Amino acid sequence: MQRTDQNTGPPERNRVRQQIAAAEFVADAVRGADLPRAAEIAVVKRRDDRVAADFVVTPVDFPIAFFLEPSQEASGDNLFFRSMQSATKSSRLRGLRRYEWLKGITNYLSEFVVLPHVQFPGWDMPNRVEELEPNFIEKLASRVRAYWSLGDGPISDVTLLAENKGIVVSRISLGSTALDAYSGWCKAAERPYLILSSDKDSSLRSRYDVAHELGHLILHREIGAVSINNRATHRLVEAQAHRFASAFLVPAQPFADDLYVPTLDALRVLQNKWRVSVAMLVYRVQELDLVSEEQGKRLWINCTRRGWRTNDPLDSKLHPEEPRVLRRAFQLLVEKRIQSRDQIKSSIPLNVSDIEELANLPFGYLDEDSPYIWAPDPRPSLN
Ligand SMILES: [Zn+2]
Repeated sequence: MQRTDQNTGPPERNRVRQQIAAAEFVADAVRGADLPRAAEIAVVKRRDDRVAADFVVTPVDFPIAFFLEPSQEASGDNLFFRSMQSATKSSRLRGLRRYEWLKGITNYLSEFVVLPHVQFPGWDMPNRVEELEPNFIEKLASRVRAYWSLGDGPISDVTLLAENKGIVVSRISLGSTALDAYSGWCKAAERPYLILSSDKDSSLRSRYDVAHELGHLILHREIGAVSINNRATHRLVEAQAHRFASAFLVPAQPFADDLYVPTLDALRVLQNKWRVSVAMLVYRVQELDLVSEEQGKRLWINCTRRGWRTNDPLDSKLHPEEPRVLRRAFQLLVEKRIQSRDQIKSSIPLNVSDIEELANLPFGYLDEDSPYIWAPDPRPSLN
């Protein structure tokens, strides 16, 4: 579908754009097998080569305000999609839309709650991505650790760290295993956003994804999406974000000090400390030249033979890290009676279950008769 026009056209064009966005949403819901909701919403006609435009809304859980809200998709933020080539266009669009929704939710919450301040180093990066050499990235990762006073040990909760540094994080189903995570800097609010896929349900993968996106947010903030769309540049920036992630999660020196023998069993033990996959540690020993080429090959053969490349031995024992800032903000609004559930729903022009998912709230939390009530304890306290 073509969407080259900007958000500043005449009213008629804006109306058509909103209709297309709504129709896309419906088509998306149908594809995502959310049929009951889609059935409530609309009739979608195909006209020419694009999805357009007649729809009727049953406003059960789909506020009409959604359609009246101007589309923000032309916001011009730089977004980093990991699997740009493999993710389908529709899953990227789906992802883009959720990014904009997440921004909308955050803007709403910011009216009532002070969210964590953005604490990102303002260091100048080389002008050309080609200049971001592996050694530079290794040093940068330790500078970032020092900037955030993390020391050089393992990071217990990478998601919590990201949230504490001001990134708005959401972990949702993206309906596609081809899209792991993506992030972007909101230019208007000067705030970074990060969306993680819950589809693979892997804790170690999620931790790594956070670190990878952190790499993009620090290294590639100023690079335009246009240049990243170039295939070779895209491959390069991906490799750079991978290098940042491994250097940030597993700093070179302490890791090398830990590693007595470069065997798979030794890496299996060390993964408990660093909370990364064995496969990632195999990459790490190779990129740090801690093994010969031959040893590296043997490690991969062994890793594959044990099935650890697809099923990491530690991963199934861990729960994925959970984003909590947005959830806590909503709980604060409701529990302190700053806003009622009704006020929240009428102020955010999105489907209720989407708000709940994006904010990591229990499903049903925003229902009027929600079982999730955190009323103040009426008993006297000894505190
Ligand atoms: Zn990436």
